[in-house]
Amino acid sequence: MKPTHIEHIGIAVKSLKESIPYYENILGLKCYSIEEVADQKVRTAFFMVGQTKLELLEPMSEDSTIAAFIEKRGEGIHHMAFAVKELPDVLAEVENKGVRLIDKAPRKGAEGLNIAFLHPKSTGGVLTELCEKPEQE
Ligand code: ZN
Repeated sequence: MKPTHIEHIGIAVKSLKESIPYYENILGLKCYSIEEVADQKVRTAFFMVGQTKLELLEPMSEDSTIAAFIEKRGEGIHHMAFAVKELPDVLAEVENKGVRLIDKAPRKGAEGLNIAFLHPKSTGGVLTELCEKPEQE
């Protein structure tokens, strides 16, 4: 695997409404998109910093993994996402190297990206997401 850059950093928050003002008023970033990712039961807000995004994740229900994360560890950095090419091949490659996969095959994430998560038990405690932009425009 050879990531091209950090695609985004995922940050778990209790409330987008309460968290967005820090990013806009203190960091001076602009929230350019709010999107619901139904199958992960989260509402996301995106900010651009250079070519890296910040993705705020607000749980939409109690049984969301983000709700469980906040319950256990509080608000804060949830995952790191690397941009890669040939995601299915990369998943096969890292699985061969003994990495535990949360997603055996890519699925659709926010912003239409193909994504897959690696298990934090295999990544030094950092929940790791791999993202690939689909080919078509
Ligand atoms: Zn993410």
